[in-house]
Amino acid sequence: MGCIFCDIIKGDRLGHLIYEDDEHVAFLDKYPIDVGHSLVVPKRHYERITDMEPENVGKLFSLVPKIARSILHSTKADAFSLAQNNGKAAKQIVPHVHIHIIPRFNDKGTIWTKREISKDSDLAELAEKIRNSI
Ligand SMILES: [Zn+2]
Repeated sequence: MGCIFCDIIKGDRLGHLIYEDDEHVAFLDKYPIDVGHSLVVPKRHYERITDMEPENVGKLFSLVPKIARSILHSTKADAFSLAQNNGKAAKQIVPHVHIHIIPRFNDKGTIWTKREISKDSDLAELAEKIRNSI
């Protein structure tokens, strides 16, 4: 039904995966707020977190510390933010549940920088670095 994330999960669209298990994937955001900005995603398509069983929400969020640690390690970020948007008014762009992990850097402040499209070659290199440190 034309879901970008389902296409990435099926392998029909390029995604720079940094983590995968039976029920989840994590990949780099194509429009990062900062270097290493990643999304943790359930493989099954749910639009909002309120569509999920509570235990599946728990499993999804339980992956965040492990993945965030690897992102921080690989990007040398000082901190990170989490965001999880549900619905258009909340600025959810892709209607498939995802958790944003956004690295933050002391020397850049906390303003949300303009999102730019990353080069696939840069993302591929970074994804490999993060994958290897998980
Ligand atoms: Zn989907």
